[in-house]
Amino acid sequence: MLSVFCSPSRYTQGRNATASLGAEMGALGLGGPALIVAGSSAAAKLAGVWRETLGKAGIAYAVHGFGGECSHAEIARVERAGRAQGARVVVGAGGGKVLDTARAAAAGLGVPVVNCPTLASSDAPCSALSVIYTDGGEFQEYRFYGRNPDLVLVDTQVIAEAPPRLLVAGMGDALATWFEARTCVDGRIKNMRGGASTRSAAALARLCYDTLLADGPAAVRAVETRVVTSALERLVEANTLLSGLGFESSGLAAAHAVHNGLTTAPGTHPFFHGEKVAFGTLVQLVLEGQPRETFAEVLGFAAEVGLPITLAEIGLAELPRDLLGRIAARATAPGETIHNEPFEVDAAMVADAVLAADATGRAWRRERPQP
Ligand SMILES: [Zn+2]
Repeated sequence: MLSVFCSPSRYTQGRNATASLGAEMGALGLGGPALIVAGSSAAAKLAGVWRETLGKAGIAYAVHGFGGECSHAEIARVERAGRAQGARVVVGAGGGKVLDTARAAAAGLGVPVVNCPTLASSDAPCSALSVIYTDGGEFQEYRFYGRNPDLVLVDTQVIAEAPPRLLVAGMGDALATWFEARTCVDGRIKNMRGGASTRSAAALARLCYDTLLADGPAAVRAVETRVVTSALERLVEANTLLSGLGFESSGLAAAHAVHNGLTTAPGTHPFFHGEKVAFGTLVQLVLEGQPRETFAEVLGFAAEVGLPITLAEIGLAELPRDLLGRIAARATAPGETIHNEPFEVDAAMVADAVLAADATGRAWRRERPQP
């Protein structure tokens, strides 16, 4: 098996980075017309900066307002807008689903993509894949593309002004990265690109985890205060770049499969991807029989930054047996990344691990009441 490592061509991050979008695109030879796919708050916040930076770079552009879900229907709408405009590049600006849609439409149009995450709420921005949902918000499939984004540009001023819960959700997504990567590396599992993991990818996944533990709490305080600090810069890099490179070039395992299972329960729909992945990480640790110290470290971190550690905290205070069965069946569907675990995993094991993870989280809460 060949080792494969992939990444965006360029990653640019910092305070007011949006003002450099035109120059960065120009330096990479990305000219207009550009179709910007934008969430409503990204468009409201950044319209003026786009006019200035893209105007200066001589890049003509149009803005497509995002429909709210990365679904087949929304991707088709963006592709139609791009074709009508003669777009030569697609720019996604917003949360994970906006960027997923932008990547999918760019691939459909056969043009490069630029991703400008306005939230550090998931590790999707650097990847060459999208997570497709039904219009109702249920996980449907992963879609893979030939190329990673040409440019990922992260404006930490914008991220500092977003609701803190979104940054925390990104930490949940990033929390899974090292545990899933380690499982894939140890098992010599193919990564998301069909190759073996490199030492580089594994090291980045580990650095992601270490950065969360070191900088997570300070980064939450920074966004609560709406300020950009060194801790926030490092944490945003962990959520976006380190986690993105780590998962794509090392692989996913049980945590994300459990997330996919959880999306079948409508009660979890108000919760973010990373919040469900955080709980999925606990389920993976239970399945793998990880030692007490690992649980203590993960639960301590999750509780400190405000990630969910119980079923009630992801909208499943009531979990009827048949719904638990559906979640477990979806998590263990053929082709799911849970089968990257080094032992056979079936739905009964997942159902038990979900309840055990919940019991562990509840015990943690009982023993350490919130101040
Ligand atoms: Zn994820």
